[in-house]
Amino acid sequence: MASCNSCSAPLAPNTQYCHYCGVRNDVDLRGKHDYRVVTRESTRICPECNVNLQTIALDMQPPLQIERCVSCFGLFFDPGEVETLLETAVSPVFSINQELLGNINKDRYQKDKPVKYLECPECLNMMNRVVFGHRSGVVIDQCRAHGVWLDGGEISHLLEWKRAGGQILDQKNKAELQQKKRRPSESRAEIDMLMQNYGKPSAESDLLETVASLIFKVFE
Ligand SMILES: [Zn+2]
Ligand SMILES: [Zn+2]
Ligand SMILES: [Zn+2]
Repeated sequence: MASCNSCSAPLAPNTQYCHYCGVRNDVDLRGKHDYRVVTRESTRICPECNVNLQTIALDMQPPLQIERCVSCFGLFFDPGEVETLLETAVSPVFSINQELLGNINKDRYQKDKPVKYLECPECLNMMNRVVFGHRSGVVIDQCRAHGVWLDGGEISHLLEWKRAGGQILDQKNKAELQQKKRRPSESRAEIDMLMQNYGKPSAESDLLETVASLIFKVFE
């Protein structure tokens, strides 16, 4: 279990506030990912603290440049960079640990936390709140053009979610949804009905042709 940088008291999973001394801890990077500071003050602004974010390069191949707030330890990722980090930092996962996923979700999800919309560090437009993946429990703030903002602790949480197989579950769900969209059940019922009305075609090729033309009709 991680402990407070200031008083050494134990920290609850992926939380940055120490309940004993009130100090905020960098739970995402300290002791977990090496990085170097590229720009001390970038032009991007922390949506929580209103100070300039620092640009850092995470020590990985290829190096990933992200922005970091030195005050609240929130992180800003360009579009696709969270996915890259998950891909690079977690070795391939082949199974889903449902129990662990349930706990991860429970740990993170705070019902009483007030909903707050944040401004994009780059364009200052209000960001959208988006659930990152199935059962991750992490709601990220997203600007479609510039990227996503993660509060302190959230990237660590997503890495755990991926290790527990959360991303596999997510991809499975998306694939199932796509398939449902491609073959709507009502249309299939309609095809069956039409087939019955048409009666039995004489040869197999006729049957295929009839079915093909019917499918076209249904989807027109
Ligand atoms: Zn402390
Ligand atoms: Zn901040
Ligand atoms: Zn933006």
